[in-house]
Amino acid sequence: YDFTADDLQDLGEIGRGAFGAVNKMVHRKTNRVMAVKRIRSTVDEKEQKQLLMDLEVVMKSNECVYIVQFYGALFKEGDCWICMELMDTSLDKFYKFICERMQTRIPETILAKITLATVKALNYLKEKLKIIHRDVKPSNILLDRRGNIKLCDFGISERIDPGRARGYDVRSDVWSLGITLMEVATGAFPYPRWGSVFEQLQQVVQGDPPRLTNKNNSFSNNFVHFVNTCLIKEETQRPKYNRLLEHPFIKGIEQSRADVAAYVCEVLDAMERNGVSPFTTDQPAQAWVD
Ligand code: ADP
Ligand code: MG
Repeated sequence: YDFTADDLQDLGEIGRGAFGAVNKMVHRKTNRVMAVKRIRSTVDEKEQKQLLMDLEVVMKSNECVYIVQFYGALFKEGDCWICMELMDTSLDKFYKFICERMQTRIPETILAKITLATVKALNYLKEKLKIIHRDVKPSNILLDRRGNIKLCDFGISERIDPGRARGYDVRSDVWSLGITLMEVATGAFPYPRWGSVFEQLQQVVQGDPPRLTNKNNSFSNNFVHFVNTCLIKEETQRPKYNRLLEHPFIKGIEQSRADVAAYVCEVLDAMERNGVSPFTTDQPAQAWVD
């Protein structure tokens, strides 16, 4: 994929994050529609070259079905444009609609499929690309009507903002996965709304880890155990991916008949009927600290 910003036609903004906006764009010559993330970047020309070389590595991830396809990156007026496969919604918008508007929860069989896809994506990044994700959260897990579940936004943040990632192990991603599952399953972020970064660190480092409880028997024991094992505070005790893949909550779930495509379609149709955008929510996205 060799193209420039001028080959793309902007079809409007679909989302906004801490580093910039994500727009839907179409590549005029091929009619390929894509999601383009534009990151304000202060890198000079030499650093741009390095960044593009790093992204070559990311290109290799295109063989994994649990990772969003990456089409290429380009620089325009100092901004870095990251071009990727356009999905139909992200898990944050999805669960918020289900919990807040439909007043229900994502079925556990669907959660198991989402969990398996995410663990496989993270394991692939680690084993094949030697990349740690560092930003596992619901808005970085994308869904489409065909039932695909894909992880996005990995490995790039570190290059663009070297101050962000320190002291990271794959098991920090496992922790974030636990927090993500808790948020998506209960409909609420497990920490009270955060103030300063200092407060965030204090809560995570000094406080007890959040634990999923089964008050109303609304979850299976396997699910509760899976989440809480991701949230073991002592990092050396926390499982890595090979152990998670053996956990009964997700082991063998590939064979389960849970129909992700039908469920995603049902929810997206309900969003459409209610005039709710599958991309943007009213509330600002809660950031997860790394
Ligand atoms: P964040 O992940 O913190 O929300 P981002 O800038 O990464 O911030 O993305 C903003 C929003 O754009 C996401 O919440 C998601 O809804 C949407 N989005 C990002 N990438 C894609 C994509 N490839 N396909 C569809 N929607 C996307
Ligand atoms: Mg994101």
